[in-house]
Amino acid sequence: MIDVDKINSRTLESKDYWKITCQLESVGPDLLCRIHGGDHHLGAVSRSQWLDHQATTECLVMEGHREDQIALHTAHKLCRASHRNVVCLAGIHFDDLEPESIKEISSSVASLVRQAARLLEDQRLQQAAKSSKFLQQMEEGTAKVAAECEDFLATPWETLVTQNASSVTEAFARQFNGQIRVFAPLYLSNVCLNNCVYCGFRMNAKFKRTTLDVEQAVCEARTLAEQGYRTLDLVTGEVPTDRFVEYVAKTTEKILDRTDIQHLNLNLGSLTTDQYRRLRTAGATGYHLYQETYDPRAYFRVHDGGQKRDMARRLAGLHRAIDAGFETVGLGILLGLSCLNVELARLIRHATLLHQDFPHLRLGFSLPRIREVDLECSFVAETEVSDTEFMKAMLFLRMKFPKANLTLTTRENQQIRDVLLPLGISKMSAGVSTSPGGYMDVHQRETKQFMVSDKRSLKEVAKAIERANWIATYE
Ligand code: SF4
Repeated sequence: MIDVDKINSRTLESKDYWKITCQLESVGPDLLCRIHGGDHHLGAVSRSQWLDHQATTECLVMEGHREDQIALHTAHKLCRASHRNVVCLAGIHFDDLEPESIKEISSSVASLVRQAARLLEDQRLQQAAKSSKFLQQMEEGTAKVAAECEDFLATPWETLVTQNASSVTEAFARQFNGQIRVFAPLYLSNVCLNNCVYCGFRMNAKFKRTTLDVEQAVCEARTLAEQGYRTLDLVTGEVPTDRFVEYVAKTTEKILDRTDIQHLNLNLGSLTTDQYRRLRTAGATGYHLYQETYDPRAYFRVHDGGQKRDMARRLAGLHRAIDAGFETVGLGILLGLSCLNVELARLIRHATLLHQDFPHLRLGFSLPRIREVDLECSFVAETEVSDTEFMKAMLFLRMKFPKANLTLTTRENQQIRDVLLPLGISKMSAGVSTSPGGYMDVHQRETKQFMVSDKRSLKEVAKAIERANWIATYE
C-alpha cells in the first residue's frame, strides 16, 4: 500500500537511456504534470477537467511542435485516475532521432503515464476508503468485539463445544426447525474484469474464458433440479456492465420459469442500484457480496486491478443491493488475508450496522478459506487459518447471530463439515462444480475458481445431515 500523503509531489523517471521524467505536483485540489526529456521546453499544454463524473480534455500546441498527443493523453488519463483537474505540460527534444528511438521514447512515456495514473488512482481510492463514514462507524465498536473474539479463539475447542453446543443446537432447532438447506452453485461465467490475486478467475490468468448462453444455463439448472436441488447460487466473475447484468437477469427468469428451481441467490460482485434492481425484478431471491477483507492494507494488496480495487465502493455495495429490494443478503470474508479476530469483528460490526439500518434483513454469512487455485497463481496467504480456528470462527458467528444463515461450502473437507454440522450450520453446498458448464460437460472442469475439498454428492451430504439428527431441505 502506498503512503497516500507522500505523493503531493513526485517525480518518476524512465530507467532507460532517454531518462524521460514525469513530475506530479498538487496545486491545491488540482494537479500539475510535467513530462520532459532531452532539452526541456514547452511543446504542448493540455487541461483535463473532472466534470459530471467524466474527463473533458483539450490541448494547445506550440507552432512546429508535436507533443500534443502526449499532453492530451496524459492529462486525460491522469484526470480519470485521480478525479482531479489536471494540467499537463509536455516538452521532449532530442536531436536527429531515428524512428526506432522515437518508438522507445513513446513507450517510455506511456509506461510513466501508466505508473502515474496508478499512483493517483491508488491515492484516490485509499482516501475514499479512509474517509468512508461507514468504515469509521464500523471501527468504533470493532476493538471490543475483536477482544471477545480473541478470547474465544484462545479457548480450547472441546471447552467451547461443552459450554455452548446445547444452547446452539436448541436455538437452531427453534429458529430453523432443524433444517439445513442444501444448494449448489451454478457458475454462469468465468470472465472477470478484476484482478484478485487469490482467485482462479482473475483477469490476468490465462485460460479460455467461458460464458454459458441462456439455454446452456437452463440445461445446467435442470440437471441440478433433476438431482433434487431447489436452491442454486448463480455465480459469475465481476462484469458490471448493463449488458452482462441483463444476460444474468434473463437467465434468472428462464431458470425460474422453465425448471423446478425455486430460489436463486446471486453472486456477481458489486453493481449499481439500477443493476441490482433489474436482478431483483427478474426474481432473484438473495444477493451475496463478500468484502473479502476489511483491512485496507490487505485489501489494496490483493485487489490488484478492476473496479473491485475501490474498497469504499465495494463496502457500500450491500446498501445499494438492499435499496434495490434485496432483503436476503450474504456477507463474508476470505480467511487468510488478515488477522482473524479483527476481520471477524469487523464482519460482525458490518452485519450489526446493516441490521440496525434495515431490521427486516435476512442476513447470511460465509467464511471461505483461501484455497489453492491454479499453478500460475503465486499468491500465498498472509495468515494461515487452521482447521480449529476456522471451526471456532464459525461457532462464534453462529452465537452472535442465531437467526442468520450460516453457510458451509465444499472448500472445507468432509471431516470439518461433519464436525460443524450439528453446530448451527443452516446452508451447505454439495455435489459442486466451480466452473461454467461443469455439471454437464466434464471438459469444463478444468477452469475452476478454486479446488473443491468435499466431493460428496447431494445424497451423501443429505445422509450426513440426517446422521446429525437434522433435516436436509432443498427449498
Ligand atoms: S474473486 Fe470474484 S471479482 Fe475477484 S477475480 Fe475472482 S471472480 Fe473476479
